[in-house]
This record gives sequence, structure tokens and C-alpha cells, in this order.
Amino acid sequence: MSTGTTDRPDTAGAAAQQEVVVRCPATTQVVGSVPISTAAEVEAVAARLRRAQPLWQQMRMDGRARWLGKWRDWMLDHRDDLLTPLQLETGKSWGDTGVEIAALQIINYWIDNAAEFLADQTVRPYGAANAGKKLTLVYQPYPLVGVITPWNGPLSVPLLDIPAALMAGCAVLSKPSEFTPLAWRVAVEGWKQIGAPDVLDAVFGYGETGAALVNTVDYVMFTGSVNTGRRIAVAAAERLIPCSLELGGKDAMIVCADADIDRAVDGAVWGGFVYTGQVCISVERLYVEEPVYDEFVNKLVAKTSALRNGMDSAHDYSCEVGSMTTAQQLAIVSRHVDDAVSKGAKVLVGGKAGDDGGLFYEPTVLVDVNHEMDCMREETFGPTLPVMKVRDVAEAVERANDSNLGLSGSVWTRDKDKAMSVARQMNTGSVNINNVIASLLQYGLPMAGWKESGIGSRSGGADGIRKYCRQKAIVADRVAMKKELLWYPYSRKKGSLVENMVRVLSAKDWRRRLGR
Ligand code: NAD
Repeated sequence: MSTGTTDRPDTAGAAAQQEVVVRCPATTQVVGSVPISTAAEVEAVAARLRRAQPLWQQMRMDGRARWLGKWRDWMLDHRDDLLTPLQLETGKSWGDTGVEIAALQIINYWIDNAAEFLADQTVRPYGAANAGKKLTLVYQPYPLVGVITPWNGPLSVPLLDIPAALMAGCAVLSKPSEFTPLAWRVAVEGWKQIGAPDVLDAVFGYGETGAALVNTVDYVMFTGSVNTGRRIAVAAAERLIPCSLELGGKDAMIVCADADIDRAVDGAVWGGFVYTGQVCISVERLYVEEPVYDEFVNKLVAKTSALRNGMDSAHDYSCEVGSMTTAQQLAIVSRHVDDAVSKGAKVLVGGKAGDDGGLFYEPTVLVDVNHEMDCMREETFGPTLPVMKVRDVAEAVERANDSNLGLSGSVWTRDKDKAMSVARQMNTGSVNINNVIASLLQYGLPMAGWKESGIGSRSGGADGIRKYCRQKAIVADRVAMKKELLWYPYSRKKGSLVENMVRVLSAKDWRRRLGR
């Protein structure tokens, strides 16, 4: 299987044990390295985790919850040990780096709810013929779940998925991005340091390592690009194993004339530039109603111009927008801006890469954009806010839905009914009203991409943990009879009794019930 990335971090070392060398994208300095796991090594780790999983599954739910709680506490106590390498490998500002650990809350969500969501369910039998049956639905974990993650949220993305799988009783084999393996390696070390059962580990490397992981696990939870997601879906189909795919987005922000413009501008600036625009549900394009367009754009330019671009030191909080994390993504941002400008767009602020060697790109506002431009159609995943003036809300919704992606979006208005109506019309897995990105942290609701933004969902109450389980239907007789009516031997007398019963039980009118 080929890899999903075309540019790669450096590789060093002898052929026998090569490693990925990680550089800070803001400074280009080497900040660490991880060994590349071969396919044989991936299989060996998977086999080890599989050996430990049955005991983990047999452990009571509160036992598993205790280990997850200890891991949460370890991460809280080692915040800087996690966040320092995370900042260095991503080039994020320290403020953005801190956002990564907000996802820890999800551990508590599953600790608090897993037992209820995975409890056996008694199901009422259907129809008089089944009245004597006792039906039980049981959830049993896939033994080994593989979790493959991208570089934009090295800690938050695995944390969004792994606690549910562990609480379900699965073992988890994770593979962080080759660009950002350092913080996740520390988190997995934390699991080992607390002495937890051997049901969580990580393997490292490029797409080949990810492909080897897909070849050995029982369920794949993938977050990343649409292209790689497609490859994973094909590989999972070959093995007839399930997969859940959380892919790219092109989130639209619809600003109505009656919106609180100051709040909408602040929302656009944070939603477009947080993580330097490298959030799957970043604001990627804006549609603003004509009467407030000028006011909105003027305020947007003022707020964007005030942002401080750079990678500040730990706890400094003196920059908002850090560097891009990969050169490939920086090239996409530059291409989108250049394409837009060549087709008539205007850059009102930003519009250039930094010139000091790091992967910086200035926070950028583009106007006079249209759907002929790549910046309005392809995922940019960078610090750009292209703004389009629209006649009315109907046009905004039509434009927002004119995309092959359907991850999330937002609508801004003071009219609650209008907000709900627009939200229902948007072809996306989630919609925030007068907010951005907030839906990501609502663990009782699913995060699901429509169209090419994915298959399946994460979080979402019971579904978010049941997906890591196989359902088992257990059927018992309340009163055991010597023999069932349908069993051998067949006879005319029994046959006609069955025929009559089928007619009486299935027909909804007397003529058929009586066989007339
Ligand atoms: P990517 O697809 O290039 O890589 C993601 C992961 O897949 C990496 O760990 C990579 O090594 C691995 N991989 C690559 N080829 C593989 C293969 N053939 N088999 C198995 N694994 C393979 O994505 P990226 O550039 O790291 O991440 C950016 C993308 O992720 C963006 O499109 C963004 O929108 C998306 N994303 C989506 C969500 C979401 O929840 N929907 C969240 C974060 C990021």
C-alpha cells in the first residue's frame, strides 16, 4: 500500500533500525526522533496486546475506569512533559498547545457513562409466536483496535478515540503521524509508568507502518486526509474489518444580517486561525449577507491584523498564531492564495509565507472570492479566511452545500428559529450556532463527516463506545418445551397447524386470518 503523504520528515540510521527525525517547523531544529516500526514489529506488538486483552475485558468496568483515571491524573501531573514536545513538533503557539489537553475531559465522560452504555439490554420479543423468548443484547469488544492519527492534534486526536476503546475492553495499538510522534510517545509512556495492563502501545513511522497496522487489527479508527481514508477503507474492506474514518472538512460560516457582528468576527478569527487553521473543523470559508458585509470585513481585517504570529516559549502566551506544521501544508496554503489572487481575489491582510526559515504563513483575509477558486473548494487547512458576499441566506446555504466535503459549519444570527432552520439545511455532520468548533467537545453528540468527510462517527453517547464492540444476540426460552413446533419430523397435522398459525399471526384482516 502506498503512503498518504508526499513529503516526509527526515529518515536517519542504518537500514536495520531507521528512525524518523522530527524537526520543529518553526525553527527547523531537530527536536527528537522515533524508531520506524517494521511490519514484523507491528505484528509483534499487536500479538503482545492481544495476549493481554482477555484479562482486560474480564476486568470489571470500574477496574478499567480506575486505570483510565490514573492515566488522566498522570497526564495532568505531567502537563509540561506532554506539551513541551508537542509544541516543538507542531510549531504551535503556547496558547494553542494548551488547547490540546482540553480533550482529557473525554476520559471522564467514558468513565462516567461506559457502564450504562455497554450494559446488557433486554429486548422485548416481537409477535405472539416469540412471546416465550427472553432476548438479551450483549456488547463484546473487538480485541484489538488500531488508531491512526494525523499531525494537527498529536494529543487531542488520539484522546478523542482511545479512552472509549479502552473502556469498552479493547486493547489499542496507536500510530501517530510521522511528523508529530513525540508527545503521544510520552502519553503512552505514562500508561506504562502507572503500571497499567499491557493493552495500549504505539508504533511509529510513515504510511507503511500505518498500513501494517491496518493489516493486523480488528477495527480501524482513522483520522486524517480524504486520500488516505480511501486507502484505509479499501484495505479494511479486503480484510472485512470495520473502520471509522474522520477526514477533512471545508467548513462554511454563514453570517446573517441580524448577527452579533462583533461576536461573529471574533469567532471567525479564532475558528479560522486557531492551530494556524489546521483544525479539521476550522472556519474555511465565509458567506456574509450583503447589508453587514462591509462592517464584517472591516472588523475582520482589524482583528486579523492585530494577531501575533510566532512560536512563543512555554507559558509565555505572547503569540496567537504559530507556524504551519508541514511544508506540504504550507505549499497548499500558498497555492490557494496565489490561485485566488490570479483569478481576481484581493488579499486584505496577510497573504505571504514568513521569510525566516520557519513554516510560517501570515493570517490572511481574502475577498472577492468565488467558487472557481481552490480556496473555496478544496480543504486549505491553513490560516486563510476567504469571505464571499451573498444576497441572502438562501444563497449562503446553497454555496455552503456546494462542496464534496461535509464535516461541520456554523450559522450566526440572533433569530433562534432561523438558526435552527439553516442548521437543518446544511449538509454537514454538525453545525454550531453563533459559535465555532464547540461541537467537537460535546461528547454526547456524534462527530461525523457527511459526504467525503468520513464514514462513521466518534463520541455521540452510546454509539461512540458501542462501535468498538460486536453485538451479540442471546435468545433463551422462558419455559423450555420438549420440542419446537418447527422441528422434525414433519407431518400433515403439524404442517397445517403451522400454516394456520402463520395466517392468524401475520394477517391484519379477518378474511385472511380465517383463510377465506
Ligand atoms: P494523512 O492522511 O496524510 O495522515 C494521517 C495518518 O495516516 C498518519 O499517521 C500517516 O502516517 C498515516 N498513513 C498514511 N498513509 C497510510 C496508509 N496507506 N495506511 C495507513 N496509514 C497511513 O493526514 P494528515 O496530513 O496527517 O492530517 C491532515 C488531515 O487530517 C486533514 O485533511 C484534516 O482535515 C484531517 N483531520 C480530520 C479530523 C476529523 O476529526 N475529521 C481531525 C483532524 C484532522
